[in-house]
Amino acid sequence: MRERSFHFWLWLTCCAWAAVIGVWGWRVGQIRAAGTGVSSDGDRLLPMPLAGDADHRCDWISPWQSARIPRSLRFDPPLGSEHGALVYNAQKFWEMNERRGGHHEGDDLNGIGGMDSDLGDPVFAAADGLVLYVTQPSPGWGNVVVIAHRTPDGQVLHSMYAHLDRFDVKPGALVARGGRVGTVGTANGHYPAHLHFEMRASDGVDIGGGYAMDPGNRLDPAATVASLRHAAPDDLSPAPMGRMLGAVTFKSP
Ligand SMILES: [Zn+2]
Repeated sequence: MRERSFHFWLWLTCCAWAAVIGVWGWRVGQIRAAGTGVSSDGDRLLPMPLAGDADHRCDWISPWQSARIPRSLRFDPPLGSEHGALVYNAQKFWEMNERRGGHHEGDDLNGIGGMDSDLGDPVFAAADGLVLYVTQPSPGWGNVVVIAHRTPDGQVLHSMYAHLDRFDVKPGALVARGGRVGTVGTANGHYPAHLHFEMRASDGVDIGGGYAMDPGNRLDPAATVASLRHAAPDDLSPAPMGRMLGAVTFKSP
């Protein structure tokens, strides 16, 4: 009787562990599937994981790297003139996109010529910063650059430049406001050429899905740049850090 009872409890314990391991494996599989960047439909951006978990694949910023993030006294729009002229915002921050199943986490900036007329146009760093991420997380994202900035009051913000045709920066490099990040692209032909531009209040690089139901650390890019511009509307002066770094390309007025 006692022996049968022992076997019963052993069996029950094994069943319980099997259930725990099964649920854990399913959950890990779900998170990995969401993080691979390859959705069942390669033509659309990967949605955020349903649970809203962050993608920590690129969360590598050490205290030393964080200390190198330069303070930027001024921010500018990343496309067109330093005032953001010659550009329109085709899909504004937090517009609901039913087809993608979420709110847009950035601004979709286009040259005023429309369609692919801005293909290959230079994309500029919004502010002095440290380049954290230069890679292609998924076909739908295309080439992505993330740059960390420190605001005048010490807050770390990230700017993200997506669907690029070409990279002009390397990870770990310092870049000046107005320095060239890359060029406007189509994310492997998935969209008409445009720049998907995000601003984030972030400590780590979470690529995300471009659309979400919860804003998380995403900020309104146009409003954030405007609030940190700290420049007269007609001021076109390049960043002093650009002179220090030397080999950066400035946008022409
Ligand atoms: Zn977009």
